[in-house]
Amino acid sequence: MELRVLGCSGGEAEGERLTGLLVNGRVAIDAGSLTLALRLSEQIAIRHIFLSHSHLDHICTLPFFTKNIFGHVEVPVEIHALPETLDALRRHLFNDELWPDFSVIPSPDKPVIRYSEIVPGEIYEVEGLHITPVPVNHLVPCVGYRVEDDHSAFIFTSDTAETDAVYALANATQKLSFFITEASFPNEQAWLAEASKHLTPAKLGAELKKLKKDVPVAIYHLTPGERPIMMPQLDALKHPKLRLLNQDERYVW
Ligand SMILES: [Zn+2]
Ligand SMILES: [Zn+2]
Repeated sequence: MELRVLGCSGGEAEGERLTGLLVNGRVAIDAGSLTLALRLSEQIAIRHIFLSHSHLDHICTLPFFTKNIFGHVEVPVEIHALPETLDALRRHLFNDELWPDFSVIPSPDKPVIRYSEIVPGEIYEVEGLHITPVPVNHLVPCVGYRVEDDHSAFIFTSDTAETDAVYALANATQKLSFFITEASFPNEQAWLAEASKHLTPAKLGAELKKLKKDVPVAIYHLTPGERPIMMPQLDALKHPKLRLLNQDERYVW
């Protein structure tokens, strides 16, 4: 399995892309940076997109992606997400006001994208991968994902405050190779993390005690301007496997 980090920042600026992962060139998880990180030919190769939740930093390149692939795909690209997330896309984004409804263009029976509701705990088999959504704790309904093939697995919690199910799933995953979770705000902004359902480094430290697997833990979603304050706070956790997730990195397991 090849995991490519398209974007992993909690804010957008030059050189800082929003959340998006690409697995084996065919399956995307979140769509914060598809059109910024990928060539046109790489965008056209994507067959499935699994969304964690409806917040803009996880979906904002979907409109430009749909326009780019229009006319280049025979089979609709499947957008897998919770019903609440799909509802938000239908009502607020692909509503013909902000962007054309590409779920019925060019025709309802042969559209550019097709919505596909996911159920947490179910396992979805796509492109030789097994993908399991797991509920996490965020401002809107949100899932993390476990992505597995025959040899390895990784988990991406997406945006979350304190949560349990994703750690239980990680601990039950025999071939877990990698665990990605978030830290969004410095310890001094614990109130903001609480209000927006994110983690600080201190809260992350308490969360990671639930992880019983000895695997690398990669942190994403740092607020760009707070990085100088957050880095020493992450170091202070003295977690031997902790590191930052880096944009444009590729992992092969
Ligand atoms: Zn969010
Ligand atoms: Zn986010």
